[in-house]
Amino acid sequence: MNDESVSPSVVRRSDPARVEIEWTDGGQSAFTAAALRRACPCARCVNELTGVRTHDPASVPDDLTQSNLRLVGNYALSMTFSDGHHTGIFSFGFLRRLTPEGA
Ligand SMILES: [Zn+2]
Repeated sequence: MNDESVSPSVVRRSDPARVEIEWTDGGQSAFTAAALRRACPCARCVNELTGVRTHDPASVPDDLTQSNLRLVGNYALSMTFSDGHHTGIFSFGFLRRLTPEGA
């Protein structure tokens, strides 16, 4: 599956602590906001040169919420987490490969 072919048909926020995605290929993913925050691929969370995560996932509370969920171009989602972090850009391909939690 190449990333360009992956896109959501529906993005649902029934709960501020969850993001649910239905994909155009028929698959579904559900993530907690905490899981997305822990997987955040941005340069403040992951060293771009080494790929080593510099943000401690254990520091994220399970009841983290997100707001201001928005599209980035036509290839990614971005959101503001309740810990104030907002620089993560979650490409659809990244989200499709990320293991869903609580689905
Ligand atoms: Zn980040």
